[in-house]
Amino acid sequence: MKRILHLDMDAFFASVEQADNPELRGRPVIVGGRERGVVSACSYEARKFGVHSAMPTAEARRRCPHGVFVPGRMRRYQEVSQRIMAILDNFSPLVERASIDEAYLDITGMESLCGSSPRLATALKQAIRDGTGLACSIGIAPVKFLAKIASDYNKPDGLFILEPEQIGKFLQTLPIEKIPGVGQRSLEQLRALNITYAADVQRYSKKFWIARCGKWGEALYERGHGRGSDVVETCHEAKSESAENTFERDTADRDLLRRWLLLNAERVSGNLRRSGVEGRTVTLKIKFTDFQQVTRSKTFATPTNSTKRIFQTAAELLEMLDLKKDVRLIGVGVSKLEKTSHQLSLLEEELDEKQTKLDAAMDGIRARFGGDSLVRGRLFDFTGRTRERP
Ligand SMILES: [Mg+2]
Repeated sequence: MKRILHLDMDAFFASVEQADNPELRGRPVIVGGRERGVVSACSYEARKFGVHSAMPTAEARRRCPHGVFVPGRMRRYQEVSQRIMAILDNFSPLVERASIDEAYLDITGMESLCGSSPRLATALKQAIRDGTGLACSIGIAPVKFLAKIASDYNKPDGLFILEPEQIGKFLQTLPIEKIPGVGQRSLEQLRALNITYAADVQRYSKKFWIARCGKWGEALYERGHGRGSDVVETCHEAKSESAENTFERDTADRDLLRRWLLLNAERVSGNLRRSGVEGRTVTLKIKFTDFQQVTRSKTFATPTNSTKRIFQTAAELLEMLDLKKDVRLIGVGVSKLEKTSHQLSLLEEELDEKQTKLDAAMDGIRARFGGDSLVRGRLFDFTGRTRERP
């Protein structure tokens, strides 16, 4: 049986604001987009007034008129997130970044090195506090979904360890809506079946749940028995997305190379967006006419899946290359992948909003009319001079 640790930062965005600005400490801080936007995060002082994330900012103002409303600084939160993840990477090689402020660690067998689970968790919390000044909550359980529920149990600055032999009892008093995937609509259906706690799911057979709710029903049945995934999915460099093409006739024409780079960047970024991931390393790959291959990479502090950013980076790398020989293949890859932040709406507001919309619109058109139906901007008087490889 595995031991999975889930770590979740407490009121992350609001806590970063308070750590960076001592005047905000102890005050109700509410981080939220524009006037008509919603709350992305709020400090525990603000929660006392009934403010919570995803609430319209206007409603938060009514409930907490003396609150400190700040617009949010996504780049800064990304930066702090990177620091937290680096601390976790130092702790265990098996780290899965679940969101900007959450991660799973596989700590199976680590306790013998660290003494015990509470000692390990306390050391981890201290390392994060020392490195960032921020508090987090930790849950430990044999599977991921229970570890996530456990990290929420004693928030803030919490620690909750669910031993395998305690799970049965724990499920008997765990409200069913705490199970990930149980939303408002499914909750109504479950109430109609008289299901209040997670263990109540066990009253019906697996067959019943599958017949009633399909795949979701099967997952619910498993979770009602305390079973779920225990696989911590690390995103190492091996995981990447790339696109390349081989030319019909080898070329050293930089304009042509750039155009193909853009097309490849569009494919790669489109795939990344469809998979809900973004990457920190952009790699340019060139194969010369004599089959000599060179790669050049650049790594960012913050991940991206923007076509523009990926293209521009690859184009800069191309610019720095000395093209003494003709090129037979050009490609672009993105690696160091991680899941796109859940708080994307705030990020989009702050970053180039137009670019993101353009990317989304082009993804939509391509999905309807096929891959190369649309090529942006000043491109492409493009005459089929190339032969592609998938
Ligand atoms: Mg959090």
